[in-house]
Amino acid sequence: MQGNLNVQTENIFPVIKKFLYSDHEIFLRELISNAIDATQKLKALSSRGEVQGDLGDLTVEVKIDKKKLIISDRGIGMTQDEIDKYINQIAFSGANDFLDKYKDVQENLIGHFGLGFYSAFMVADKVEIETKSYKDAPAVHWSCDGSPEFEMKEGKKKDRGTDIILHIADDCKEFLEEHRILELLRKYCRFMPIAIRFGEESKWEDSETEFNEVDDGEGSASGTSDSEAENKSKKKEPKRVEKKVPRIINDTDPAWKKKPADLTDEDYKKFYHELYPMNFEEPLFQIHLNVDYPFNLTGILYFPKVRKTIDPNRNKIQLYCNQVFVTDSVEGVVPEYLMLLHGVLDSPDIPLNVSRSYLQSDSNVKKIAQHISKKVADKLEEMSKNKVELKDADGNDVADAPTQLEEKWDDIKIFVEYGMLTEEKFCERAMKFTLLKNTEGKYFKLDDYRDKIKTLQTDKDKNVIYLYATDVDEQHAYIAKAKEKGYDVLLMDSVLNSHFINLLEQKIDKTRFVRVDGDTVEKLIAHDDNIPEKLTQEEKDKLKPIIEAEVDKTHYTVMLESMESDDQPMVITQNEFMRRYKEMSQTSGGGMGFYGEMPDNYNLVVNINHPLISQVLNEPDADKQKQLVHQLTDLALLSNGLLKGEALTQFIKRSVDIIK
Ligand code: ADP
Repeated sequence: MQGNLNVQTENIFPVIKKFLYSDHEIFLRELISNAIDATQKLKALSSRGEVQGDLGDLTVEVKIDKKKLIISDRGIGMTQDEIDKYINQIAFSGANDFLDKYKDVQENLIGHFGLGFYSAFMVADKVEIETKSYKDAPAVHWSCDGSPEFEMKEGKKKDRGTDIILHIADDCKEFLEEHRILELLRKYCRFMPIAIRFGEESKWEDSETEFNEVDDGEGSASGTSDSEAENKSKKKEPKRVEKKVPRIINDTDPAWKKKPADLTDEDYKKFYHELYPMNFEEPLFQIHLNVDYPFNLTGILYFPKVRKTIDPNRNKIQLYCNQVFVTDSVEGVVPEYLMLLHGVLDSPDIPLNVSRSYLQSDSNVKKIAQHISKKVADKLEEMSKNKVELKDADGNDVADAPTQLEEKWDDIKIFVEYGMLTEEKFCERAMKFTLLKNTEGKYFKLDDYRDKIKTLQTDKDKNVIYLYATDVDEQHAYIAKAKEKGYDVLLMDSVLNSHFINLLEQKIDKTRFVRVDGDTVEKLIAHDDNIPEKLTQEEKDKLKPIIEAEVDKTHYTVMLESMESDDQPMVITQNEFMRRYKEMSQTSGGGMGFYGEMPDNYNLVVNINHPLISQVLNEPDADKQKQLVHQLTDLALLSNGLLKGEALTQFIKRSVDIIK
């Protein structure tokens, strides 16, 4: 029989060839998916007793034969009527309308319109089908050379199943190369549910017929003749021989399809390395997703260790549809703050062949993203309740073992902070488990921390002041001062810090965060008690210009303060808000440019109660006075890490002179 494909198909071939050119490797995924479907249908029929007898080996096979690429399955096959219905009368009406409407989404056109099989014409100038149905019907041979005419006649195929034979076009020769096909199979078919064979691979195993003679390690026993001893100390070992075995390219039963109860931590790690063979790091922990209502979703998401330098293009989350790889661009499906997770998602409910903007407005997709976010919050909350199992030397549980969340916190806080900043709902949940870490390395939940500090760290306006440091070494002197007062100091060193602190100030009533070097220790938390001043107003007016003459006024503002006489004579502080806004403008890019442009501004706080300051004031020799001020300001700069280069060299020289 000869015939014409459904009229509108005239428009399809140019579309297939031209517009889909960029993505034409997916033909293989489409054809193998069909083969797998046909095989699974057969298995279903058999399990219902509608197909009798042994189904035989159901492996799908991919072969390169000179200029042909052949995909064979042992599935249900097709009768002539079925080919007519499913292949010839392809359900594709109004190709032109469609093209006009979706000019921008043509890359996703295939599949969406049931064009799966026809994608073969992206790479082949002739396609043949040899098929025999599981029903008692004659085999069929169909062929088409890319024009709307096809040929269909009785075929010679003896056994059940379908061979799709592609005569690869001259400009697509890459698809006749073994390594290219292997690459595509590994990309798209790695977890398909029916075994797929492509060629052979080597396997080394013990030979049954060939042996090596090896020493068995035992010396010869005395009293036996030499030749006997010889015999006894040699042992026969089977020779290792190379054997060619079928190369099966897929894992038909990947971990995400299994029940979480059937998997150990080791299994999850093993699967992680199967997924990312080039990544040698262990994931921190994982979340196994398994939903069947109101949408279908399975998958495993792994939390990786986030390095300072993150390459978002490595180890991306892979999206599958019934174990068929679709893409590793999961924007929209996965909430933004979880884009750096690793793993797989598998859902038949995600519309895979539509544009990104459509995807983001799809209600199923939104629900999936929300579900993932909720599962992540559940998991983190659970981890915040479970202690790490630690045993002491006697095998007893260690009572103050950290929680699982505390143990991993430093590595995952970036996800939590980013999630809280970008997702209202997640933020609400996370307020219950998010942790603060203090400079002693202890972790606290938000409520617990407030309880801990509120007695000593509430100021006269009833605000609870959270003191924090961003660098334990650099801010050491300030941290020590605050601790002397009985205050606790948090360590907040994440890149999102300033944004995150702003968020906490909004979320927790009557709360202010102040960096330990934001002010002198007396003023960090303003209580009512003032320290009496040792200088008169007149003396203060005289002192200020003396000191101002020695500092760079564009960066430093001199402030006279009444502090304890055994405090430092001079201290450098930086206004909390100016500093935080400057940092925020650096991490958020744009919008806050004004603050980013500001020079760094510091206060040089002079302790008027310190004896050395009185000495400055009373020094009759102008040079000596200058030197003293210089030395004191340098010491203040030094303790803040601000004394550098030439100035530092000068300071050292001056100090040596003084000691001499
Ligand atoms: P889709 O797979 O989206 O339905 P295709 O154009 O890929 O669209 O295939 C059309 C139909 O042809 C399939 O639904 C199936 O009925 C039939 N078919 C394709 N390939 C095979 C095969 N290898 N074995 C049996 N039937 C097949």
